[in-house]
Amino acid sequence: MRTRRFGEVDPATGRKWGGSPLTHWRALRRGVEAGEVRVPCGDCSACCRSGVPIYEDDGRELPKRADGACVHLDAEGNCERHATRPEHCRLFTCTLMSIAGVVTDNEAMNQALARWEWDLSSPQDREFAENARRNEAEKTRAENLAAQSES
Ligand code: SF4
Ligand code: SF4
Repeated sequence: MRTRRFGEVDPATGRKWGGSPLTHWRALRRGVEAGEVRVPCGDCSACCRSGVPIYEDDGRELPKRADGACVHLDAEGNCERHATRPEHCRLFTCTLMSIAGVVTDNEAMNQALARWEWDLSSPQDREFAENARRNEAEKTRAENLAAQSES
């Protein structure tokens, strides 16, 4: 059976191959150390459109268009300042969110997360993914408790 490349899209399902979560995590750590993580985004620009705050390296928030997308996203869905995009963008990846089963309040982002397909055939990868999901669930619970105590 041919090995699928990281980020390869299955034409039948439209899903993107992520491979082993643990291997991906190790690659991401090397990317963070190098100052940039490489995500095969293809035709996706969901995170640039999601409306979440994005910050310049000096801490200023990037302006948004009326539809919530970053002002630097061009009409073709590409970043018009890709080479000089902030660290916030260079170190962002939706892959860990996908492994952790994150659900956001943005439908396009949720679709991008659901597109990833992970290889959970090894016990180590299953354990890694389960821990990521458990951590995410605990984080959500803590956030909900904090929100309740503020209201
Ligand atoms: S949501 Fe993920 S795949 Fe889509 S543009 Fe952002 S990082 Fe890339
Ligand atoms: S600066 Fe570029 S990569 Fe960052 S959110 Fe805007 S369009 Fe996306």
